[in-house]
Amino acid sequence: MFMNIYPKAYISSLSDVKADYFKEKGIKGLILDLDNTIIPWKAAILQPEMADLLKGYQASGLNLCVVSNAFNRRVVGLLEPLGIPGVAWARKPRRKSFLKAMDILGTTPAETAVVGDQLFTDIWGGNRLGLYTVLVIPISKKEFFGTRFVRLLEKFVLNRLAKKGVIEIPE
Ligand SMILES: [Mg+2]
Repeated sequence: MFMNIYPKAYISSLSDVKADYFKEKGIKGLILDLDNTIIPWKAAILQPEMADLLKGYQASGLNLCVVSNAFNRRVVGLLEPLGIPGVAWARKPRRKSFLKAMDILGTTPAETAVVGDQLFTDIWGGNRLGLYTVLVIPISKKEFFGTRFVRLLEKFVLNRLAKKGVIEIPE
């Protein structure tokens, strides 16, 4: 089976991307990864800047849903103050949790983007369902030892893709 881990876009931070970027592509819902995408790895709270950004997306008409491989209590506790639904224990890159998120968002695959920091969970999982996949540079460097090798591989792949012009980097 061909494993498509190429993101459609590559960004340094979610805060670089305005709601219009998504809306111009017909995207109505965002599936957001949690750790290293909207919060530093294993952080207990959402930073005010990120909370404001997400509220801004919502105000612009984008529906949001967090899909995380982390456990339920943590995901719900973090998102409850913002009223953002979350799918925990997602087991990305499996399709099931992405489908569940689209059900919550009320969007079709063509209307849905995935934003995450990992090629082998967020991007691959999103690509399997034909979603618009956006890779973000991880917020923090606090990683499991084991993921370091994966990061090196990602970096290698991305550098090649950027040179070839395969991936898009939003302004
Ligand atoms: Mg992550």
